[in-house]
Amino acid sequence: MSGKAAFIWHDNFLKYQFGPTHLFQPIRERYTLDILEDLKIFNKEVKLVEPKPAKESDLLSVHTKEYVDFVKRMCKRGVGYLDMGDTPAVKGLYEGALWVVGGSLCGADLIMKGKVAHAFNPGGGLHHAKSSAASGFCVFNDVAIATRHLQKKYKLHRIAIVDIDGHHGDGTQEIFYEEPILKISFHHYGIFPGTGRVEETGKGVGEGYSVNIPLPPGVDDKNYLDAFEQIVPPLLRRYKPEMILNQFGVDAHYKDPLVGLSLTTTAYYNITRTMHELAHELCYGRLLMLGGGGYELKQVARCWAIAFLTICGVPRECYAHLFDQESPPSSSEYVRKEVRKVVREVKRLYNL
Ligand SMILES: [Zn+2]
Ligand SMILES: [Zn+2]
Repeated sequence: MSGKAAFIWHDNFLKYQFGPTHLFQPIRERYTLDILEDLKIFNKEVKLVEPKPAKESDLLSVHTKEYVDFVKRMCKRGVGYLDMGDTPAVKGLYEGALWVVGGSLCGADLIMKGKVAHAFNPGGGLHHAKSSAASGFCVFNDVAIATRHLQKKYKLHRIAIVDIDGHHGDGTQEIFYEEPILKISFHHYGIFPGTGRVEETGKGVGEGYSVNIPLPPGVDDKNYLDAFEQIVPPLLRRYKPEMILNQFGVDAHYKDPLVGLSLTTTAYYNITRTMHELAHELCYGRLLMLGGGGYELKQVARCWAIAFLTICGVPRECYAHLFDQESPPSSSEYVRKEVRKVVREVKRLYNL
């Protein structure tokens, strides 16, 4: 079982950068492509596609005009910050942001036009951006902009967003908090941005459509995957999405310097398998994967390459060398108990 797939890349993705010493380095996306090219996976079924930049009107489907003008103005000058101090204004950043947002729109279009079933934009997944504010290295929220695009252009109503970044997908949650767009976020709780409690369930007609799984530090593959399997498949089967967006930030990897979770490549492989199977079961394979966090650059490239190879249906033996050769210590009894407690609470709240 597999569908055609596209990896979306343009050299201009590298313009979405904050300077040589910043933690966020877009070269990790190019490293991912290097791995895929070395494996010679591109052909008629597995495409490498160049997007076009997004238009200002695409940004305005989510962001305010004042905010877009502010970003443009600040990036032209190239000094200061777009937020409280994580996201510097850099010359060319505005243009770079248009390219990475364009990548997510391109993936959505390729899937909806039936050119491919699955698409992966490693430059996307900028889930912290709010409608009128930058945050945590995220300038424009391509996850939300792609969702609006799917609603407007293709009249989709049921779009599911599964966010596995180590940080809470707060921007995406806030933008759709009062809308019946299913948003599921797994994240390390107690670090930036500080939101993502189980009690944040949505508001108005959006009540019950925000789902948060806050995790303690030290969660390993087994405990994470147990939680994931108990929550994601039943929620998606009940929601019956017409399209699945998967924010695939990989900063929950055990070698990542910013997040305290302890996942290995095996977790990313299994998460992707589950998402891929659910997409085929529920919505003709329509799965748009987006990048996100990930600050240990070579690990990021391996995790993303594994995810893309998995949705392409490439046998695991062909890329066994990409998997972690060692693993971090298993979760402590305390962590296991905490995870079980959170899962029980989520299942109770959402009647799973
Ligand atoms: Zn498939
Ligand atoms: Zn993150």
